[in-house]
Amino acid sequence: MPGFEVIGKEELQNLTKIFKYGGGVLFRFGFEKLRKNSYLVKKFEYKFRKKFGSKYSLAVSSGTAALRVALASLDIKKNDEVITQCFTFVATVEAIVESGALPICTEIDQTFNMCPKDLEKKISKKTKAVIVVHMLGVPANLKEIKKICKKKKIFLIEDTAWGIGGSFQKKYLGTIGDIGTFSFDFAKTLTTGEGGMLLFKNKNICKRAQAWHDHGHENKPRLKRWEDTRRSSGFNFRMTELQAAVGLAQLKKFDKIFLKHKKNKDKVLSVIKNIKHIKYRTIPKDSIDASESIIFSFSEESKAKLFRKKLLEYKYSTKILPEATTWHFAGHWKHIKSLDRNSVFDYPKSYELLKRSVSIPVSFSMKRSFPKILKNVILNIL
Ligand SMILES: *Cc1c(COP(=O)(O)O)cnc(C)c1O
Repeated sequence: MPGFEVIGKEELQNLTKIFKYGGGVLFRFGFEKLRKNSYLVKKFEYKFRKKFGSKYSLAVSSGTAALRVALASLDIKKNDEVITQCFTFVATVEAIVESGALPICTEIDQTFNMCPKDLEKKISKKTKAVIVVHMLGVPANLKEIKKICKKKKIFLIEDTAWGIGGSFQKKYLGTIGDIGTFSFDFAKTLTTGEGGMLLFKNKNICKRAQAWHDHGHENKPRLKRWEDTRRSSGFNFRMTELQAAVGLAQLKKFDKIFLKHKKNKDKVLSVIKNIKHIKYRTIPKDSIDASESIIFSFSEESKAKLFRKKLLEYKYSTKILPEATTWHFAGHWKHIKSLDRNSVFDYPKSYELLKRSVSIPVSFSMKRSFPKILKNVILNIL
């Protein structure tokens, strides 16, 4: 979770430059004379797609917006179905609801991500897209899921909000499906306060997304903005120059963040890996995780709850599991009316696994004493 841990003078310098040299222009389009060639959102899009190896990119106002724009660019609408997984952040399902399509959730497996077998069962004639989530940094079983989507001719979107920097078969997460979406909210690996990004394989899908996120504007270079062409309506999910200024500084820190994360995760694992009676989350073959968290399961729910309580006594916290499943597990989403499977009993396998699992956040500035404390807390409970 280091975005906010490493925010500092580089971000401030970039922001100041907008006012010193860029005429104080905060809008991503127009004001050609005033801005003196300072196009930060455009530059952020370029640097981001170069870094993660994609041909097309679009910056937006949040990770939730990225998901909504992704669905619009694939022309998802009423009477379509979109499948995601029951363990995710509520935004994934909200984006489907907002698109007008019916949200369907699958069970998770030992990867704590979409279960490919359940995905196959839940695909219908109406299924248009799948949103797979690399929840808390571990890649989903992309090999199987991609195969299924290809066979059924269904679009694959990767919600990479937690998976940035992780990879599958040497390709970065977010570049394997048709679209990858990213979040830069304040809890994510890179932060712009609020912000998001999409990566695309296909130029036309990217073009549709660009237009839809800006009221349908096709942004024809030779036309004035008010004379611009459009083919569909859209919405406003534009990123501002302020967000991009911060994002560019954060992106420069990414490799350092990623390595430090991995190092800290490995330090923790080296101390706790031999403890018996806890079971670690599975990382799929040929996959590298984003070192966002360490998830393991106890034999029963009471132990997971006690673990969190004991850890808090040392002023350390868990992350999402076990305390925040109400926001991250579809079994608790009775308030989403179009989600017909919204009871914990609709996802029996996932519920059984989630309720006895805990997630340890990996931080940039981890204290040296943390792995030992963690080990003692676990041993104390077993
Ligand atoms: C954070 C998050 C989002 C939403 O991103 P925002 O930038 O907060 O809108 C979507 N999906 C997942 C899995 C997330 O963790």
